[in-house]
Amino acid sequence: MTVVTRFAPSPTGTLHVGNLRTALHNWLFARRHGGTFLLRIDDTDAVRSEERFVDAIRADLAWMGLIPDAEERQSARFDRYEARFAQLVADGRVYPAYETAQELELKRKVLLGRGLPPVYDRAALALTDEDRAKLEAEGIRPHWRFRLDHDEAIVWDDLVRGPQRFEARLLSDPVVRRADGSWLYLLPSVIDDIDMGVTHVVRGEDHVSNTASQIQMFTALGGAVPGFAHEALLTGAEGKLSKRLGSLGIDHFRAAGIEPQALIALLARLGTSDPVEPFVDPAPLIATFDFGRFGRAPARFDEAELAQLNARIVHQLDHDAVADRLPSGIDAAGWEAIRPNLNTIAEAGDWWAVVEGPIAAPPVDAEDRDFLARAHALAMDLDWSGDPWRALTDALKATTGRKGKPLFLPLRRALTGRDHGPDMAALLPLIGKDRALERLATG
Ligand code: GLU
Repeated sequence: MTVVTRFAPSPTGTLHVGNLRTALHNWLFARRHGGTFLLRIDDTDAVRSEERFVDAIRADLAWMGLIPDAEERQSARFDRYEARFAQLVADGRVYPAYETAQELELKRKVLLGRGLPPVYDRAALALTDEDRAKLEAEGIRPHWRFRLDHDEAIVWDDLVRGPQRFEARLLSDPVVRRADGSWLYLLPSVIDDIDMGVTHVVRGEDHVSNTASQIQMFTALGGAVPGFAHEALLTGAEGKLSKRLGSLGIDHFRAAGIEPQALIALLARLGTSDPVEPFVDPAPLIATFDFGRFGRAPARFDEAELAQLNARIVHQLDHDAVADRLPSGIDAAGWEAIRPNLNTIAEAGDWWAVVEGPIAAPPVDAEDRDFLARAHALAMDLDWSGDPWRALTDALKATTGRKGKPLFLPLRRALTGRDHGPDMAALLPLIGKDRALERLATG
């Protein structure tokens, strides 16, 4: 069996971190099994779907490196839905219903008031041709329900949640088409999954009860029922279902200097029993991806954890990978010198300013004046092509007896204007002789 997964967003907004995670897991699973990863644009809702969101979805996936093997669009498939729908109507698996929303609400309340499950009573199934003709003559257009097979318990072995069981008679026959002819998501999705050979449906656990109905739709349409993985949802760092998560998308992460590899490394493992590790290359994440390792409890998405992971990713990136995002002048040696100090690539400019100057050095402590004057004199005659920092500090140690912080800190301050920063041995050759002499000449 060739694995086929699909990520099926509705283009009614931009992707948030939960959607990105679902997309990633579809991609990882397909890659793990040498399968196909589809992007399906669920744009049956012509009013709410917007082309700019389709573009944004594509761009976000591209930024993450999750390139679909093919793209499908539901809006291009209405003829197909019509044909399959007609078949289900002919088979008696889809039937017209005429209740208004208010009537349905009333029925629901009555059932709940009696302590009964609020399951649709199928009154529409009892209508005669005459009843229907009369209603339609009054201008009432039907909506359409899928008739669940009540005799069958619906079971599946969820890849995340384990064995699942629903009693069909405790579910309402789901509405699959509105009175205006527009489609609800349930049926087109199943028609697509069958036609596109989808083998695994990977989505959030908010779809679990849809799955119960959809499994019967697969069968009614003569399709093979795919595997299902319903993932626990994400919560915010504070452990609650957070509104904020719903607004965290790629734009936010990019502005915060987050690299796609960091987002991938976190979202691939969050909610699993495996450690989150800073993989620059997704290969180990693909190789270890397994729905069986995901827990059923909501996973906590913590931006502070992402930021830390991001720094560990940045520390591994090669100059080639970042060159076009660096201020001009930072060559491979410069990048390697400042890289360990960065949380984000954008910070490279700050550290590079330390090399290129001008720097604002703090005033020199009185007890360091002679020391720095001596450093200046020594720096004049150093071999700058070798390891000037080592040579300078060795000579200063020998002549002044200083070591440790009193040796290093005044030099760092004078040469960089800061108390902390990149390794001076890497930095000093980049600062170079002329600028170093200028900065040491404090007296
Ligand atoms: N368009 C649906 C959604 O965004 C797709 C769900 C699914 O993966 O089947 O919720």
